[in-house]
Amino acid sequence: KPINERQRLPVVPQGIERDDFLKALAELKGQLGAEHVEVNDKPLRDGWYMEHPNTHDMMTILDEEELVASAVVYPSNTEEVQEIVRWANKYRIPIFPISMGRNLGYGGAAPRVRGSVTIDLGKRMNKILDINPEDYTCLVEPGVSFYALYEAIQEKGYDHMWIDSPDLGGGSVLGNTIDRGVGYTPYGDHWACHSGLEVVLPTGEAIRTGMGALPGNNTWQSFPYGFGPYSDGIFSQSNYGIVTKMGMTLMPNPGGYESFLYTFQKEEDLAPLMEIIRPLRISNILENVAQVRHVTQAIAARGLPRATFFSSSGPIPNNIIHAAAAKTPVGDHTWAYYGMSYGPAHIRAHKLALVDSEFLKIPGAKKIDTSTLPPDEYFWARDRVAAGVPDIHELRWVNWTPNGAHIAFSPVSPIRGTDATALFALGKAAHDKYGIDFFPAFCVGLREMHLIVEIVFDRDDVKARKAALDCLRDLVDEAAELGYGEYRTHLVLMDQVAKTYSWNDGAIMKFNEKLKDALDPNGILAPGRCGIWPKRYRGRGWEM
Ligand code: ADP
Repeated sequence: KPINERQRLPVVPQGIERDDFLKALAELKGQLGAEHVEVNDKPLRDGWYMEHPNTHDMMTILDEEELVASAVVYPSNTEEVQEIVRWANKYRIPIFPISMGRNLGYGGAAPRVRGSVTIDLGKRMNKILDINPEDYTCLVEPGVSFYALYEAIQEKGYDHMWIDSPDLGGGSVLGNTIDRGVGYTPYGDHWACHSGLEVVLPTGEAIRTGMGALPGNNTWQSFPYGFGPYSDGIFSQSNYGIVTKMGMTLMPNPGGYESFLYTFQKEEDLAPLMEIIRPLRISNILENVAQVRHVTQAIAARGLPRATFFSSSGPIPNNIIHAAAAKTPVGDHTWAYYGMSYGPAHIRAHKLALVDSEFLKIPGAKKIDTSTLPPDEYFWARDRVAAGVPDIHELRWVNWTPNGAHIAFSPVSPIRGTDATALFALGKAAHDKYGIDFFPAFCVGLREMHLIVEIVFDRDDVKARKAALDCLRDLVDEAAELGYGEYRTHLVLMDQVAKTYSWNDGAIMKFNEKLKDALDPNGILAPGRCGIWPKRYRGRGWEM
């Protein structure tokens, strides 16, 4: 049949005939209900962040058809997830679990292997199973977004508890946490803050980790370790299991908070600034994951297209960015530090005074009087996020190009002037080479920082997509040569990034593969995710 506007021939996973695949799907429909198994035979629609597709990556860096699902299934509980897994084993069909699929910049909802059956856990498994106001914990299913958790806590009137949200609040708490995403309150290291998982293994058994393994326990969400090996780690950034429940700790309302914003004039201020930040952050005077952002991104975050400022190709010149910045309420600068201090006023006062005297040691540094900033200013979006209030203002810089999409370069480094300078230079050179605007933001964890560089590109422009990907590939390798590794990466770069972790002849990947083969002998679960390929895929040209 010809493929017209209304219909696409669904992709079929490699290694199974179309008819057999459709028969297998019919069997699954019998088990889950026909309405809970959807063949991906409609045109691929991108939607937008809040109405994103679950069939592919709406911000694709390759042709959209490359990493596309053959079908999407919607389990309603753990038992149904187990049934799907057993079904996949029976027919050797690759399955790819997503929670909500809003992992934009890292692959969205797309599976790594074309034609995988996507398990969209979030659609029907979206309950907050528990919020415990005494222990400050909760237990969530994959479809609970940061917004939903925030709203549930507000509705119950639990003013004494905060959640922690990443830059964008529409994603899944569970999905973000097991991909080791971060937020901006003192509880920003989501993985470190979780406690207890329920996991369906690739062969269909369900396990509970930590105290969850003890029947009748009452500490699953308050003591993460349980007894014996701590197994949770292997279910983060992996393809060893499908997480169906997760415990999360909640932050006590600190009894007051205050955001602050400092600007620094020169590019070279980055190095001394990092030297000032490190001891303040490690000693918790700077209390949250701070952002040191470059002015180019600040201009883009205003939501206007780049063409408003500059209509030629090639990176936007510095003088144009500075002229634009000079007209904003924050004023001209090169770096901006967005931070927050927590606690009642008298506690904050001491910390803020220390920060102020340290930051102002840099010539030209300015403390912005934030009371003068209009309500729509980006600063207030940072303020909300750092106070645990979900937000989506951050998306605005995607308007920078037509059909704006983004993909991230996110290396980890020490909090040190020399490292910040080296990464900045490396990033700038690669962006210049490919004619791309450079949006660096240093996110200071505790003893390390992630440089987050979002490359914004026109996803309908093949050349722009290629430039973005080539730039990113160069960055990953060049950074690795200097000792910097990614903390997380896009589906398309997983093989490359995994290869940079090569100490002792790739010993860590050999170990990962051993685990994969033991846990998933038929190699059905998310093959290739994080560079881990099951035996029957290895050495057969799947890597990219
Ligand atoms: P979010 O909507 O929070 O951004 P996603 O659902 O896109 O998160 O999840 C990010 C990635 O983590 C997915 O692409 C998938 O590989 C993995 N993942 C998400 N949820 C699960 C889960 N419940 N079990 C196993 N892996 C998952």
